[in-house]
Amino acid sequence: SSIDFCKFFHHIIDRFEMSKDQNVEFVRKIPDTEIIVDIDQDKITQVLDNIISNSIKYSPDGGKIICKVMMYHEFIEVKIADQGVGIPKENLHRIFDRFYRVDKARARRFGGTGLGLAIAKEMIQAHNGQIWATSTEGKGTTIHFTLPFDRKKGDDFY
Ligand code: ATP
Ligand code: MG
Repeated sequence: SSIDFCKFFHHIIDRFEMSKDQNVEFVRKIPDTEIIVDIDQDKITQVLDNIISNSIKYSPDGGKIICKVMMYHEFIEVKIADQGVGIPKENLHRIFDRFYRVDKARARRFGGTGLGLAIAKEMIQAHNGQIWATSTEGKGTTIHFTLPFDRKKGDDFY
C-alpha cells in the first residue's frame, strides 16, 4: 500500500528507542517532507527490524546508529550506519547468504540463525530494490537499500 516512508521509518526507530535494553543512540537524518512509496509494510518492517537489531548487537555501548533516507528521482536510499566492530572486506559480500555469519564464536554468543539478511535481501528484491553493505573493520558497518519511488506519483499528494 502507499505510505509515507518517513513517518513509517520514524515509528520503527521510536519502537527501538522505547525498548530500554540497548545502549545506543539513534541519529535520524530523515527529510521533513512526505515520501510516498508503495510497499508491503510488514515485510519492510521485518527488513528494518533485522538491520537495526544487527547494528545494535554489534555496536559498542553508547555507539551511534545513524538512520538516513535519501531521495533520488526514481528511488529512495535508506542507510543504517553503526560504529560497531565492522566486517572484513573479504566477508562483506557473503553476509546476505543464508546461514552465513562472519565470526562463528561471536555469532554463537549473540544467538540468531544467520537468516536475517538473506530474508531482507529477498524482500528488498521482491520490491525491485537493491541491498548492499559497506564496512570498515573496527569503525563500523552501513547497510544500504533502495526502494523504487515515483516522484511524479508522490507529487499528487502535495
Ligand atoms: P539472525 O538475523 O537470523 O538472528 P544473524 O544476525 O547472525 O542472525 P544476519 O542478520 O543474516 O544473521 O547477519 C549475518 C552476519 O553478518 C552476522 O552473523 C554478522 O556476522 C554479520 N553482520 C550483520 N550485520 C552486522 C553489523 N551491523 N556489524 C557487524 N557484523 C554484522
Ligand atoms: Mg540478524
